[in-house]
Amino acid sequence: MAIKDRILPYLPHHHISVGKSFPLDCCIPVYHTVSDEVLPHINHCVAYKNISEFVRDLEFMQREFRFITWDEFKTNTRTQTKNSKKTALLTFDDGLAEFNDIIAPILLEKGIFAMNFINPQFIDNQDLSFRAKASILVEEIKNGKALSKQLLQQLSWQNQENLAKNILKIPYVQRDILNLIALDLGISFKEYLQQHKPYLGLQQIHDLEKKGFGFGAHSWDHPLYEELNIDTQIIQTRSSLQYLKDQQLNCEAFAFPFTDYGVEKAFFNRLFEEEKNLFCTFGCAGIKTDTVLNNWQRIPMENRKTAKQTLQQEIAYYCLKNFLGKNTLYRK
Ligand SMILES: [Zn+2]
Repeated sequence: MAIKDRILPYLPHHHISVGKSFPLDCCIPVYHTVSDEVLPHINHCVAYKNISEFVRDLEFMQREFRFITWDEFKTNTRTQTKNSKKTALLTFDDGLAEFNDIIAPILLEKGIFAMNFINPQFIDNQDLSFRAKASILVEEIKNGKALSKQLLQQLSWQNQENLAKNILKIPYVQRDILNLIALDLGISFKEYLQQHKPYLGLQQIHDLEKKGFGFGAHSWDHPLYEELNIDTQIIQTRSSLQYLKDQQLNCEAFAFPFTDYGVEKAFFNRLFEEEKNLFCTFGCAGIKTDTVLNNWQRIPMENRKTAKQTLQQEIAYYCLKNFLGKNTLYRK
């Protein structure tokens, strides 16, 4: 567990008025999905909220902040307009199908805009991210499936006991192992994709854009950037931006898959030099400023806490770190 997660619950925070004490100009929450169902492709990786929990989050944030659109976000950050309430920009990662089926109708009713950061590789359910594959495999194992002795040996895994843990630890660069395991367990990811259709389709994306929602890039196929060299990071980023451009979608924003942790300054310099249309990039390190001025940190909201608890704890943590002068992210 990260130090932050260990400290957060113990910080005095219950008295904090979130909207008034929010230390930055804009609050940028990030979610993946919302559902009342068990979604095997995400269930073991993300603690997503159910519909009523999500609606409560929204209603709380709507009282504390003024939700803005992408265009307002761009002008706000440029001109620092001062309004009575601080602003919030709602974001979703991974382009999951529930954005169309569940989330968009709720947001339209409440008049809230959201940005979606999508991976071209998964649009129209052509493929699953390696994390989604891992989650599906873990679900099958929890339901009683077991790996063959040969494969266990081949992977140098001792026994079936830590199987779920081991599967969730498989990194992007070794993602082919997930296909081996699926084959061994008799699971077809292709069938899963056809049956469950976990991701948005291109037509849905265009329809959502017409309804006013925004889109941005999230890399081609969701690697962990820290594991890649700069050239591959740039290819992943630019190819996903190019896809949006080719589809006549807005390509002014990019959100790092997983985290921007370990991404060097040289990457940002090169990216903004090569992508003149790019307005900014997004990480998800909580309430924090970045020495790379056009990289904004977002607040992960899927943590089995309410929005109120999350934001109060994040603000308390920010204040604590202010004493230590540790609120700015420095990069190599
Ligand atoms: Zn993601």
